[in-house]
Amino acid sequence: MKACIKTENGKTEMMDVPIPEAGPGEIVVKMSMCTVCGSDMHFLDEYASELLAFAYPGIMRPEGLPMGHEGVGTVHAVGEGVRKFKEGERVMSSCFVGCGSCHECMSGDLGVCSGGGRVLFGCQAEYYAVPFADQSATKVPDSVSDEHAILASDIMSTGFGAIERGEGGLGSSVAVFAQGPVGLMATAGARALGCGLIIGVDTMDDRLEVSKKFGANVTINAKEEDAVTKILQLTGGGVDVAVEAVGTQATFEAATRAVRRGGVVSSIGVYGLTPQISMPTMAPSFLHRKVVTTLCPSGADRMEYLMGLLEYGDINLEPLFTHKMNLDDMAKAYDLFRDKTEGVLKIAITP
Ligand SMILES: [Zn+2]
Ligand SMILES: [Zn+2]
Repeated sequence: MKACIKTENGKTEMMDVPIPEAGPGEIVVKMSMCTVCGSDMHFLDEYASELLAFAYPGIMRPEGLPMGHEGVGTVHAVGEGVRKFKEGERVMSSCFVGCGSCHECMSGDLGVCSGGGRVLFGCQAEYYAVPFADQSATKVPDSVSDEHAILASDIMSTGFGAIERGEGGLGSSVAVFAQGPVGLMATAGARALGCGLIIGVDTMDDRLEVSKKFGANVTINAKEEDAVTKILQLTGGGVDVAVEAVGTQATFEAATRAVRRGGVVSSIGVYGLTPQISMPTMAPSFLHRKVVTTLCPSGADRMEYLMGLLEYGDINLEPLFTHKMNLDDMAKAYDLFRDKTEGVLKIAITP
């Protein structure tokens, strides 16, 4: 089968490798759609192979790292002990797979599993294996598109999670710093969860346009005006929830200053190789403030709820897909995603 493999930092190659076999607890999925995500860029550009081999033993192939953690498809093979799935069923899984029985999984946080769970790898291939399938995968209802299922596997769960864990709800005011794909999902999540004033902040006008489509009432181009000052004016003292959705000191700090006293800073950005972030102690909200960080809420239960929302809720996240490509064009997809040109947000990649 064809698979996208990271051969060295910043470089992928399409290679011919064997179709994975379904080990105990695993399913092998025939991919119908996969995509590129910001986290893939961290794996591709920032983390050395030795570090990856250490962090994910058993994942690295002799040729390199099998790329991709967001995928949807049909069950091709079912491993020993799997109870929920049969061949031919349409399935998706969360981008983190968890064992379902360690302390963290039992508390509902499958994304931080300490019992062998990890990031899913290898979705950018014709076939990929999903470990801990019963705990981490779910069937996709017929009416839910591949695009929606893929978003649920990571960035929808993360973006919506930022609002849920930030305690945003009916009527809450929310500011989302950065309207890249994950930030846009936080904006859409705030709208879906019944928040009031939603403010989208970015430096790219085309992203701010999409932000309005996903529910922002006000958008601020941070290149043209000071976002924090404007938010404090608009809200008379800060938002209830300020979401950090890119993973930089500047946006984290802005979120900290834009939240009201007693509000919540909800951080979902991946800080990558940023060794440390700091908080301004002179911000009005410094006392009695919550800072919540969220890694993609994961696991079969979470995925089932998101499928329910996508199936029955009045929600359309598909405008996030700006490009369609073929699996053969993975290298091009990575370049486009890295350069953020052509208004790219999400790329639907089919075999
Ligand atoms: Zn992702
Ligand atoms: Zn676990």
